[in-house]
Amino acid sequence: MADDDKDMLVFLADEPDPAAEQEATAAAVWRVLLVDDEPDVHTATKVALRNLDIEGRRLEFQHAYSDAEARKVLQQEAPFAVAVIDVVMESDTAGLDLVRYIREELADAQVRLILRTGQPGYAPEISTIQNYDINDYRTKSELTQSRLFTSLTMAVRSYSQLCQLEAGRVGLEQILDATRELSRPSGLQQFATGLLTQLCALLRIDCDGLLCAALHPATRQPYILAAAGQYSNWTGKLLEELPEGGIRSRLEQSLQAREHVLNGDIGLFFEGANGQALAAYVNIGRQLSELEQQLLEVFCNNMSTAFENLQLYLDIEALAFRDTLVDLPNRNALLQLLDQHSGEQHTLALVDLDNFADINNILDESFGDAVLQAVARQLCSAFSEQCMVSRLASNLFGVYGPDVEVNPDQIQSLFAQPFQVGDGQTLRLSATTGLARAEGRCGKDLLKNAGAALKQAKRLVRGKHLYFKLEQSRAARDRINMLQMLRTALSEQHLQLYYQPFICLRNRQVTGAECLLRWRTPDGQFISPEDFIPIAEQSGLMVAIGEWVLRTALRWRISLQDRVADDFRVAVNISQVQFAEPSFVERLLSILRETGVPRHQLELELTESVAIEDFDRLKSKLQQIQAAGIDIAMDDFGTGYSSLSVLQRLDLNRLKIDRSFISGEKNHDSFDMAKTIIAMAEHLELQTIAEGIETEEQCAELLASGCEEGQGYLFARPMPEADFIVWLDAWPGA
Ligand code: C2E
Ligand code: MG
Ligand code: MG
Repeated sequence: MADDDKDMLVFLADEPDPAAEQEATAAAVWRVLLVDDEPDVHTATKVALRNLDIEGRRLEFQHAYSDAEARKVLQQEAPFAVAVIDVVMESDTAGLDLVRYIREELADAQVRLILRTGQPGYAPEISTIQNYDINDYRTKSELTQSRLFTSLTMAVRSYSQLCQLEAGRVGLEQILDATRELSRPSGLQQFATGLLTQLCALLRIDCDGLLCAALHPATRQPYILAAAGQYSNWTGKLLEELPEGGIRSRLEQSLQAREHVLNGDIGLFFEGANGQALAAYVNIGRQLSELEQQLLEVFCNNMSTAFENLQLYLDIEALAFRDTLVDLPNRNALLQLLDQHSGEQHTLALVDLDNFADINNILDESFGDAVLQAVARQLCSAFSEQCMVSRLASNLFGVYGPDVEVNPDQIQSLFAQPFQVGDGQTLRLSATTGLARAEGRCGKDLLKNAGAALKQAKRLVRGKHLYFKLEQSRAARDRINMLQMLRTALSEQHLQLYYQPFICLRNRQVTGAECLLRWRTPDGQFISPEDFIPIAEQSGLMVAIGEWVLRTALRWRISLQDRVADDFRVAVNISQVQFAEPSFVERLLSILRETGVPRHQLELELTESVAIEDFDRLKSKLQQIQAAGIDIAMDDFGTGYSSLSVLQRLDLNRLKIDRSFISGEKNHDSFDMAKTIIAMAEHLELQTIAEGIETEEQCAELLASGCEEGQGYLFARPMPEADFIVWLDAWPGA
């Protein structure tokens, strides 16, 4: 904190104005209420006290001649500094009744009371004197002029002290309230307005002729942050735009000297964090009392602290709600806006820059930053103030606003033009956009919907746009639920393998079996691998499932050791996702070692989708597998896109003709296709196996075409382990 001197109230050596001082003194008097039923006493008292001057103020008298009349005067004309009360008036205790009335019913604890009586016998009890806080009690004969003088002087002094204490107490209470009020996080403007209001309340002046100036955060120029009353329309103006002298110079003085200026009009200084400061101007038009000065000092100290805290809060808030790189609202700010205003006919668009990672990697990161800044600028200038442009993640921008503005045309036309990046370079960019209509949804949901549309757009129509559709979200939800269940199924061993034999078409001997995954949900329902495998693949869970399948299949092969020939092969389907793992071959060999299955007893079924992988990497993986002695079959052959030349260059052992060519539609063209595949395989010196053989006719035709092996319902359906053994024992060719 700055040294203490800074916070001291400083008087500038302005000459006091004698005329104003005189006026103030004339206005200030001590008001005294005389209550006595004898008019002579009133006159005598007034004469006796006529020259009395206490602390520079004269006395002003008000008269009442009975308890009842005094009550009226008190009700209408309070406050009084002193009441001099006769005890015996309309009744013997009228004076004491009045005292009780003042203290108890009016609850006026401040007015000083002097009791007097003609007869000593009517003296009040000592307890009454104490309870009702009576300053003096005298018989009239005792009250000589000088006694009365002294008694009144003491009473007035005591009243004045009480008033000071009370003002101090009320002032401090106000300061505490003000501090509490202004310590709540608010905007800077709100803080300044509140500060002015509280300042008026403390000084008991009208909220008029008040200003608060601050250094502008960007330019460091002082400007009017808040103003009240006649100066309200000055808000926002630079200080130097104000008329010279007067208010302007008072505010300038406070800001430059970094201290309070207190005489006549006052300028108060509030020190904030990081050199930021506030100055307040108040036209008070009088000298401040000592108490007021002390209270102001406390007020200013408290407000400086509150101001500093507010700045810290604003800094933190700025970080939480703003993206500093492109100086736009961030995701939090967008969510906040969407929650407050999710209107009809409004749309949220998420704009994702295509290939931004390449820009960042190939060029450098600072160029990437410049690109983002250029896009931010263009987006801001393309949309009106009714729209909010924000940055949500690295290369993802959000635009929210009325449908007429936030739509694909508007966004695409923006990207049709090259962007100005940095100094003079231009760059063409493309973006993929996901849009969702607000339709009264909460911010999170709207953002999620637009995000789902974007994800879909990136997959299907890169560089273009898609709107969110409700069905899409249902499908996504179902996928997520299924994935969750599948995870549990894997960990709780609800997955199972079924086995379907391979048959040599010539001699009907069993040559091996394919392992097929089965998922039985707790309610006994089977879910087809064709439904759940794609979901497992998308989530990456397929790698773990695939390892489980491999290990289970190999253990099963070990268990068959004494029942089948040595070359009985177990065929395992390998997902492209699993195959693409860099450690795939290593894991495969390690599982083989772990289970002790000779390598020639394993065959991997791959689909043409493995060809997505970089060709050299794919080739080297296949070579490693074959070098290890493991067979590779190309599954579902004929349904994919792999060209013959690719096939020629890859090392495979077998083609597996897809079942759609065998038992699909009973159409001869497709069976001809199967024959072509068989011929081609022969040419490439690959073995063939046909899936989906359901009839003897199909079997005979395949055999005639040169296909060696087959698999299908004609021989057996996929079966659980125990059923397979039963089937095997019963199979004649075994
Ligand atoms: P796939 O590898 O082509 O498996 C052959 C499919 O044909 C199996 O379907 C099998 O039940 C079915 N099939 C066998 N004979 C006949 C027949 O005579 N007529 C007909 N109409 N169909 C027959 P399934 O078991 O439903 O498996 C479907 C696909 O799921 C498999 O096709 C494979 O791509 C995948 N899959 C199954 N298990 C696994 C696994 O463990 N890992 C991986 N990655 N994929 C698997
Ligand atoms: Mg297969
Ligand atoms: Mg197949």
